[in-house]
Amino acid sequence: MLTLNETHDANLLSWVDSANDRSDFPIQNLPLAVFRRSGSDEPFRVGVAIGDQILDLAGVAQSDALTTDNLCARALATCGDDTLNRLMALGLPHWSALRLTLSRALRCEAEEQTALTRWLVPMTGVEYRLPCQIGDYTDFYTSIYHATSVGSLFRPDNPLLPNYKWLPIGYHGRSSSIAVSGQNFHRPYGQTKAPDAQEPAFGPCRRLDYELELGIFIGTGNDAGAAIQLDQAEQHVFGLCLFNDWSARDLQAWEYQPLGPFLAKNFASTVSPWVISLEALVPFFVPFARPADDPQPLPYLNSEKNCQQGAVDIQLSAHLLSAQMSRQGHAPAQLSQSSFRHSYWTINQMVAHHTVNGCNLQPGDLFGSGTQSGPTPEEAGSLLELSCGGKIPLTLPGGESRTFLEDGDTVIFTGWCEKPGFARIGFGQVQATVLPAHPDMGA
Ligand code: MN
Repeated sequence: MLTLNETHDANLLSWVDSANDRSDFPIQNLPLAVFRRSGSDEPFRVGVAIGDQILDLAGVAQSDALTTDNLCARALATCGDDTLNRLMALGLPHWSALRLTLSRALRCEAEEQTALTRWLVPMTGVEYRLPCQIGDYTDFYTSIYHATSVGSLFRPDNPLLPNYKWLPIGYHGRSSSIAVSGQNFHRPYGQTKAPDAQEPAFGPCRRLDYELELGIFIGTGNDAGAAIQLDQAEQHVFGLCLFNDWSARDLQAWEYQPLGPFLAKNFASTVSPWVISLEALVPFFVPFARPADDPQPLPYLNSEKNCQQGAVDIQLSAHLLSAQMSRQGHAPAQLSQSSFRHSYWTINQMVAHHTVNGCNLQPGDLFGSGTQSGPTPEEAGSLLELSCGGKIPLTLPGGESRTFLEDGDTVIFTGWCEKPGFARIGFGQVQATVLPAHPDMGA
């Protein structure tokens, strides 16, 4: 059961000074990542973010720096791994015990300070790896604003299909091409067909887009045949990250019927390195409500708890830095900002629906939330929407314009939660750069 506890206390300060000054990673956050010192041949291992430092939990586990209870000791014993999968499999009581122990040991005047200081690594000097081995990846479509505006571009007469308000729409994606922030990928090739053309053409994608999403990592799984109930779903969610589901819109338009996205989506997807636990997000849980005229969810997707605190208010923001902007010294330009609280379906509803037929989830599975567009056009989570289907270019600092992404463009997402009475927590960022189409593949 996830509840407010002493780890959320806004008055807590850390003996790591940088954590106390509007960092994304104050002591109330404590997200996990898999890292090592840049350019070293050290093994990748698990660390926790505190201010501008990473506490090396593999090192801590080997030392006697922390006094731990049984649950925490078992959690810590997995931190020498180069993935979070074993920790994910342990379950919420273990994750929570580790969080509490770290919160107490990193507080001002904690007696562990001296013993832990030697295990701090400056965040500026590290490289990350995917937080876990992702077995299966499912992408949802939970923003009704995104679904409606994209639907009206692809199917003007029939934008929102009748199933949308009854179930969380999703498709099974591909995990092999998901990489951690810093993933630079070549513009994909594929088939496209102009509306007035007789036949499709082959060539580099010309309508390359990003999708502003949250990533949801599954912790403990379920046995095949045993559905996860809605109100138990949160115990199966290890944490959240930022997620860019790169999309080739011209490939997508030609290929997506009748079975859904395929090559338009499986060439690259990028996750942020830090996984924010659901427990850290408890202060930002908000009521989930449907407009009175909309159908209420079927019983397996509806509960009092889901209505009272099923949604999460997470601010999400997309930024673009072109190669020219970078040369001219411009800062990344913000393209949009929205919040996950607008999602038409909650995380727990996604988990419950995914398993209601008996489908088994496994530790390390990843859900994409779907592009998070808010109610106003300025809150759109993709260029497809911001440019009205490529018809209205955006102007960038320095004078360039964009309908879709150009070679050399870097897309950066940030995310954070704020609420009076609680510490602000951040997600860090996810960024990746579009490289030119590979010349050898054009033949
Ligand atoms: Mn997507």
